[in-house]
Amino acid sequence: MTTAKRPLPMLTTSTTAYWTGGAAGALLIHRCQDCGYYIHPPTGFCPSCEGRSCAPQAVSGRGKVASFTVNHQPWEADLEVPYVMALIELEEQPDVRIVANIVNCAIDQVHFDMAVQVLFEQHDDVWIPLFEPAPEDSP
Ligand SMILES: [Zn+2]
Repeated sequence: MTTAKRPLPMLTTSTTAYWTGGAAGALLIHRCQDCGYYIHPPTGFCPSCEGRSCAPQAVSGRGKVASFTVNHQPWEADLEVPYVMALIELEEQPDVRIVANIVNCAIDQVHFDMAVQVLFEQHDDVWIPLFEPAPEDSP
């Protein structure tokens, strides 16, 4: 096996869209159909208007690094270290924060407020959202 091994998520009714949207190249985040508020992780409940009509919707996949940590600990035998785990603020709604790895970037180049964009890594029927540096001047 040559690809990096990653712990794969459990797919549930509410998380399937997030983990499989990459098949169509889309980052799917649940959104309230009544007031437009994005909800992640999906709970089926809108904290903004208390509505319950939430459905996955494609977002731009662009965001900024709100926080990050470098992991040097090989928690699993096949885990490649070091790697960066980051909290990504979505462009559409900064309080939507996605936990994901930062890739295609030297570890010492990752910084707060760094502009990033999503890409996907397929493992069987799961497309794991990862983020890489985006051009700072993207619209
Ligand atoms: Zn709402």
